[in-house]
Amino acid sequence: MKQDKKAVKIGIVGAGPAGLTTALALEAYAPNVDFDIILFDKNETPYDYPGVEYGIQERACRALERIGIKERALHRGVRAHTIEFYNSRLNRRFQPINSNPEYTRCVVRQEFLSDLSDLISTTTVKMQHKVVDIAALADGSVQVETIDHVNKRDQFIFDIFIACDGSFSTARRLFYPESAEKIDQGFSCMYMLVEPKNPLDASERFLNLSNGGTSQLIMGTKSTLTLFPLGKNRLAYGIGFDHHTKQALWAQNNLQNDEKWAEIPAFTKRNIAASLVEDACPHDSTYLEALDHVDDWDSYKIYLWRMKDTDPLLNPSPENCNLLLIGDAAHAILPTIGMGASLAIEDAELVGKQIANALEKYPNPDDIRTHFKEIIAKPYAKSRVPIWKDLVGRARLAARENFIDQANKKRFAIGPAIPNSQLSKVVSGVESVMRKLTWY
Ligand SMILES: Cc1cc2nc3c(=O)[nH]c(=O)nc-3n(C[C@H](O)[C@H](O)[C@H](O)COP(=O)(O)OP(=O)(O)OC[C@H]3O[C@@H](n4cnc5c(N)ncnc54)[C@H](O)[C@@H]3O)c2cc1C
Repeated sequence: MKQDKKAVKIGIVGAGPAGLTTALALEAYAPNVDFDIILFDKNETPYDYPGVEYGIQERACRALERIGIKERALHRGVRAHTIEFYNSRLNRRFQPINSNPEYTRCVVRQEFLSDLSDLISTTTVKMQHKVVDIAALADGSVQVETIDHVNKRDQFIFDIFIACDGSFSTARRLFYPESAEKIDQGFSCMYMLVEPKNPLDASERFLNLSNGGTSQLIMGTKSTLTLFPLGKNRLAYGIGFDHHTKQALWAQNNLQNDEKWAEIPAFTKRNIAASLVEDACPHDSTYLEALDHVDDWDSYKIYLWRMKDTDPLLNPSPENCNLLLIGDAAHAILPTIGMGASLAIEDAELVGKQIANALEKYPNPDDIRTHFKEIIAKPYAKSRVPIWKDLVGRARLAARENFIDQANKKRFAIGPAIPNSQLSKVVSGVESVMRKLTWY
């Protein structure tokens, strides 16, 4: 029977992959612990987010498996087995990367988050609650202020607070203002969820691309395309191009360089996309055909991101405060190696496990508050920060090599699919030697 006055209070902000997995991991690893978990998100549903696709890599599949929800969380995902690399300027195909389809899935972000949300059982989820302030109290507990959709303010006090509020993190802005500003990495990407209204209008090749397990990276002279199958005849289609190309294209289309995507006329968006696709795939009409299946260029499913990231936090738990930042809040990572959601999920499963283990030793709120730094935050940072640094660095390398100054590139950066930290280190070493030998 739950004794409310003794329950450990855990707060989480952000119902993205990191926040939802943290709640699910706590529920799975500490089913008998007397605690109250509250999860806040400013949005109404997972659909209020302009994302398209997640690659759920092996590290995330394994984490979901450890908490017993892998198949229930990923049942709508496509099993992915191959990533192909093609440079159309050189007419050269590179060695594909193969992955285990049991442990590599492509999912639609909104569907995946909705499936994760459905698995939550004991956590109290407060949607439309924006966290506007977080402050440390004298005993280390965390005071959180929220504002809801009718502008009602509320205050909560937690023994432990996990910030999973993504790359625009309020926690990061409040506690790490010096490193909260995102860093422009020199390119933009147009992301689209392409879905033919009537599959009979789509070519067999398009349907094979969207329903098979093969992803593709195709590099031209000005742009690089990324294609990920999403099943049900849907394709995640990305078009990446550097700032120099953007400036020229925007000028050709009589647009100001800082013109907002939402304000660009639909036919101009399509023209820009078509010219970049023709650059990357001049000999294959399937990639242009995909653009014909976009029926609304002003939809939230078609958007443009200027690619930015942050340096990973070296100490993700601020002094004198039982707050821990994980996922994009601690390390906004470029999508160039498709690792952002996977890393966030792995972060979350591990934090859930660490808190559950600590609660076995210190089930009392006063004790867990006192020992938070020593048995949760410090060991967590020690194990995670090296992985964050490695993967953020790898994503930056993939950005430089695959998405910038394409006309001068001879190969692709290795490593969109890195299953674990050991292999990741090996691949980093190989890449570093290759760079020194100027094979790039
Ligand atoms: C264009 C683009 C493409 C990407 N493609 C991929 C990909 O192919 N594969 C991949 O793995 N990753 C990809 N990523 C990265 C991926 O989106 C993130 O790494 C991942 O979503 C991080 O998860 P998270 O839970 O840490 O944060 P988020 O998913 O950003 O979730 C943060 C949540 O916090 C909520 N929130 C924020 N502030 C507040 C607040 N103050 N109060 C209450 N709630 C708040 C938000 O509403 C949101 O629900 C891409 C990112 C971008 C920008």
